[in-house]
Amino acid sequence: MKSFDTDVIILAAGKGTRAGLGYNKMLFNLGELTVLQKTVGCFSDFKRIIIATSPDDRQQIESMFFDDARIIVTDGGETRSRSVRNALKHVSAEFVIIHDGARPYVNEKIILDSLISAKENGSGIAAVPSTNAVKILSDGKLTSVNRDKVFIVQTPQTFTSALIKSAYDKVSGDFADDSEVFEKAGFTPALSGGSLDNIKLTAPSDLYSGTTEYKIGIGYDVHQLVEGRRLILGGVDIPHYKGLLGHSDADVLCHAVTDAFLSAASLPDIGVLFPDNDDRFKDIDSFILLNKAIESAKDYKILSVSAVVAAQKPKLAPHIPTMRKRFASAFNSSIDNINISATTTEGLGIVGEESGMAAFSIITLCRR
Ligand code: MG
Repeated sequence: MKSFDTDVIILAAGKGTRAGLGYNKMLFNLGELTVLQKTVGCFSDFKRIIIATSPDDRQQIESMFFDDARIIVTDGGETRSRSVRNALKHVSAEFVIIHDGARPYVNEKIILDSLISAKENGSGIAAVPSTNAVKILSDGKLTSVNRDKVFIVQTPQTFTSALIKSAYDKVSGDFADDSEVFEKAGFTPALSGGSLDNIKLTAPSDLYSGTTEYKIGIGYDVHQLVEGRRLILGGVDIPHYKGLLGHSDADVLCHAVTDAFLSAASLPDIGVLFPDNDDRFKDIDSFILLNKAIESAKDYKILSVSAVVAAQKPKLAPHIPTMRKRFASAFNSSIDNINISATTTEGLGIVGEESGMAAFSIITLCRR
């Protein structure tokens, strides 16, 4: 591949909304490397790699590749087509490979096939025959399509640089991919060999399959309810005639979540790390303890927090959004990954008699 004069464009400006991470999926850690680092690593034979990114992620991506002189980080655009247009301005080689940052499993054979096709035909569009039956729904009528004629298009999409630049100059607007721009400009795209392994990471299940190590932890806590104490639950000060009794602020929910986190991270529990006979922890905000726990397990990143508070009174539903925000901020995670519910015990037991409150939590982590 070194014999080809080729620049590579990697598209990394997407928001990755469907991946549900709350941040760009390119920055998701697949184990040792982020999605983007793994994708860039597939192009180690090439002298120049242009990464199109959104302004929000630019600094992080620049620092990810600060010691790689082959990398140019440039602003992408609101759409794929706009990102490619911007990135093409940096292309000076005879050929250009355009590749989705979210396809980290591309291999040398796919890249070479696409390049050879571009050399012979002006373009090489990685594609695979459809393995599914294909139908077209039009005006409520379903028509079957001959599957042998249907191809699923992937990237890399490689072009003679002058041709794809002229195609983007001729055609305005936004398109699904570069082969469509090429086609709309009057050229005939040529297919090259793709692979079913060359998937585009899109849904959460794509990201969490494969090499990542996962851990699950469970936490449980109970505190006594007494008069003359503030009621603090999930970091929220809730008006109530009783509060929870404890050495710290007695935030039973925060304790259950902290213990679930420590358990998943294979660390000793909250009582061992922060003993209740240590004056440093007297009346302490339990989120300080949670933050210390998170600090001591930096190798792990939170995927989900699920928790239940059992309390007969007061009504907790109005306070749950604030609790979720507090935990999301502590774990530096999206609020979507933090789920808290509340239940009574129908008047039964310690909780039902309002002499205590309990909390349970389950946490999923992955190694960074
Ligand atoms: Mg406790």
